[in-house]
Amino acid sequence: MSPLVPSHEIATAARLLRDGGLVAFPTETVYGLGADATNDQAVAAIFETKGRPRFNPLIIHLPTANEARSFGEFDDRAERLAALFWPGPLSLVLPRPPHSPVSLLASAGLDSLALRVPDHPLAVKLLKETGRPVAAPSANRSGRVSPTTAEHVREELGERLAAILDGGPCRVGLESTVLDLTGPVAAILRHGGVTRSAIEAAIGPVMEALEDDNAPRSPGMLSSHYAPSLTIRLNAENVRPGEALLAFGDNPPSGFADIRWLSRASDLREAAANLFALLRSLDRPEFSGIAVMPIPETGLGAAINDRLRRAAAPRG
Ligand code: AMP
Ligand code: MG
Repeated sequence: MSPLVPSHEIATAARLLRDGGLVAFPTETVYGLGADATNDQAVAAIFETKGRPRFNPLIIHLPTANEARSFGEFDDRAERLAALFWPGPLSLVLPRPPHSPVSLLASAGLDSLALRVPDHPLAVKLLKETGRPVAAPSANRSGRVSPTTAEHVREELGERLAAILDGGPCRVGLESTVLDLTGPVAAILRHGGVTRSAIEAAIGPVMEALEDDNAPRSPGMLSSHYAPSLTIRLNAENVRPGEALLAFGDNPPSGFADIRWLSRASDLREAAANLFALLRSLDRPEFSGIAVMPIPETGLGAAINDRLRRAAAPRG
C-alpha cells in the first residue's frame, strides 16, 4: 500500500463514501471522483461537482473481477479480457443485469454498465472497505484535463469533496480503454491504457466507434440506450387528456392522469437523481404522453434539460 496514506484514512474515506460523500482517489490511470454507485443523490453530486452540461455514463469501479461479475453480464469475451487485463486500464461495457442496484443516473439511463478493476493498491483497498460499487469519472471540472496528482484535484475541486486520498502521481496517466461488449462485434469507444492490438490478440477483430462529445453516437451504437416510447412534452404548464406529469416544484398544474415529482423542493440534485427512474416508471401505455414542467437551466438543470430535450426530440 502507498506509504502516503495511513490505513485509518482509508477507513474514513470508505465511510464517507457509504454516507453519500464524494471521495477523490488515485488509480493507475488518473485520479477518480468517486461516489457510491448505488446512491442516486451521490451520483448526481458527481455531475454537479464536475459542472458537466450533459449526463455521460460513468465507469463503475470494483476491487476484484469476482465482485465485478455481479454487476455485469459477462460472456466469454468479457471473461477472457478480465483474466488478461484486470486489474488494469480496461473498462468493459456489459449488459446491466436485471434488478441491478446501480443508479440509473450512473449509466445515464443506459441498459449497460462500464466496469473496471483498477490496478492501484490504494484504490483497491478503498473499494474493498467501501463494500459498494463506486462510480468514478476523472476528478476534474468539465473541460479541464484529467488530474494525475492529488494536488491537481485539491486545486480544482478541493472544497467540494469529503476527502482526497493522496497516492502520489498516477503511473499510467492516461484514461482506461473503453470497450463495448454489448453487441456481437466488440467496439472500442475510447482509446486508452490497453491497446487495440492487445485486445484483438485476445478476442479477435474489434471495430472502432469512438465517442464524440458533440455528436450523439450512431443509432446502432445506441441500441441499448433507453428512449421512452411515449411522447415527451417539455415546459408543460397545462394538461392534455391522458398525460402523466413529471413535476418540479410545489405548485404543479392539476388534472393529470398521474404525477411524479422530480423534486417537490425544486432541488436540482434531487431531480437529477430521480430523472431516469421516473422517466421509466411513467413510460406506460395507459398514458397518452409525459408532460414535464419547466426546469431551470442553471447548474444540474442544464444536464437535465439536455437529456429531456433529447427524449422529446422526434424519432425516425
Ligand atoms: P470518464 O468518466 O472520464 O472516465 O469517462 C468514462 C467513459 O466511459 C466515457 O467515454 C463514457 O462515455 C464511457 N462509458 C461509461 N459507461 C458507458 C456505457 N454504459 N456505455 C457506453 N460508454 C460508457
Ligand atoms: Mg474525464
